[in-house]
Amino acid sequence: MTAGVLPQALTVLQRVWGYPQFRGNQGDIVQTVAGGSHALVLMPTGGGKSLCYQVPSLLRPGTGIVVSPLIALMKDQVDTLRQLGVRAAYLNSTLTASAARAVEQALQDGRLDLLYIAPERLLLPRTLDLLRQSEIALFAVDEAHCVSQWGHDFRPEYQQLSVLEQQFPQVPRMALTATADDRTRADIRRVLGLTGAPEFLSSFDRPNIQYRVTTKEQPRQQLLDFIRSEHPGDAGVVYCLSRKSVEDTAQWLKMEGLEVVAYHAGLSQQERSRAQERFLKEEGIIVVATVAFGMGIDKPNVRFVAHLDLPKSMEGYYQETGRAGRDGLPSTAWMVYGLADVVNVRRMLADSDAPPDIKRIEAAKLDALLTYCETATCRREVLLAYFGETTAGPCGNCDVCLNPPVVRDMTREAQMALSAAVRTGGRYGGAYLVDILLGKENDKNRRHRTLPTFGIGKDHDARVWRSVLRQLVSLGYLTAGPYQGLMVTAKAKYVLKGERPLLLREDTLIPRVSKRAREK
Ligand code: ADP
Ligand code: ZN
Repeated sequence: MTAGVLPQALTVLQRVWGYPQFRGNQGDIVQTVAGGSHALVLMPTGGGKSLCYQVPSLLRPGTGIVVSPLIALMKDQVDTLRQLGVRAAYLNSTLTASAARAVEQALQDGRLDLLYIAPERLLLPRTLDLLRQSEIALFAVDEAHCVSQWGHDFRPEYQQLSVLEQQFPQVPRMALTATADDRTRADIRRVLGLTGAPEFLSSFDRPNIQYRVTTKEQPRQQLLDFIRSEHPGDAGVVYCLSRKSVEDTAQWLKMEGLEVVAYHAGLSQQERSRAQERFLKEEGIIVVATVAFGMGIDKPNVRFVAHLDLPKSMEGYYQETGRAGRDGLPSTAWMVYGLADVVNVRRMLADSDAPPDIKRIEAAKLDALLTYCETATCRREVLLAYFGETTAGPCGNCDVCLNPPVVRDMTREAQMALSAAVRTGGRYGGAYLVDILLGKENDKNRRHRTLPTFGIGKDHDARVWRSVLRQLVSLGYLTAGPYQGLMVTAKAKYVLKGERPLLLREDTLIPRVSKRAREK
């Protein structure tokens, strides 16, 4: 039905953007939507989603309405389009009343090809009236995963976008997102009325990114070694959980002589813009940041993304690491994590006052992330499987592939560690349990020195025990109680009784991957 559309679409692409051809499945998507159908588009960041709605908006009569939560980016996007000669505008809370009125008039008069609009603005009865009186080419809902509580970026107003189907049933709707597992996809289809609409899934694989996860020992020193040995002078992003650790880490790296800027939500708007500006314009700047940094940052030659703390979820991890290597050149996603991180995130989740069903979702997401961290199989396979993609086999470009971990039956060690937790009443943290296992006397453990578990684990060093404890928490055999005390869970009894053998990684015994990788 749309056989005639593609040549026209190509003409528009070449004339307006100066690109010779569509990338990946852009052409199919453009044809589908230009022909009047709905579509669900899943494409990784940097894949080229914008053209998927911009080109059909130019091909169809009327204005393409782009719903986007990223108000801060609208002006830039619109300016870029105007430079290309596209009649674009935006409506959001940053406009003065008179500027907004001018845009509304232009829409009604049919003088706009594209209109970017914030969801809360679109949902105003007044705006919906205006849209009904105008000719609409299509609705493009960008960042569509925001409709889902399962997504990492839930926005309640997105759920009300079901009005689009109710009030404009004839107008093609497209949902676009860079991150959507099965559940998020189902939510998007339900809310935006896309049952039966074709789905365009691009591979999420970023083959040029090398994924690496290392045990946290001395995180800053490890980070510095990594940067110095593999990415000297390169631009990179270092993610930390808290503002304080951003400040401390940035300060420390600066003192070590690196070009560093800090970025977090506690800085003034001006300081943040300056940091962002330097990162974008200068060569080889490292940004140490909280996750507040990165939305809409399009710097092609970011050579590494480092995590000093666990991200919130696999989606978060994928998004954050995805900021590396947009230019397709070799880049590294590097992360350190340890027992304390696992205990902390589990604890934070248990303590949050989110409703039970949200907590269950969060717990499942955290489990997926921890599985990724602890995996003894190809990391890329685990990552892509999470996004519903199957791979042809191990990737050869992650730490597990490059340096396969030794996996050993550690049931006996696990039993020792679990008994230490049981015998001390589940009230003590990892460091205390390690001392018990090693038989190391300290000021606090006088009354536990007579336990049969005291010193039972002398055959291994502290790093092995931290690793065992961390994996037991990750795998859900131990859980953090009040005051971070490690308690055994119900399923630990299978291990204690020897009914379930436990295969654990000997991760602390492995030499650093970085060195090996470089020798190749
Ligand atoms: P996304 O929204 O999926 O993150 P964008 O739409 O911002 O990605 O596109 C990422 C980059 O790729 C942009 O610089 C864009 O101009 C470029 N791009 C997209 N499609 C093409 C194409 N067909 N040919 C050349 N460059 C393209
Ligand atoms: Zn691999």
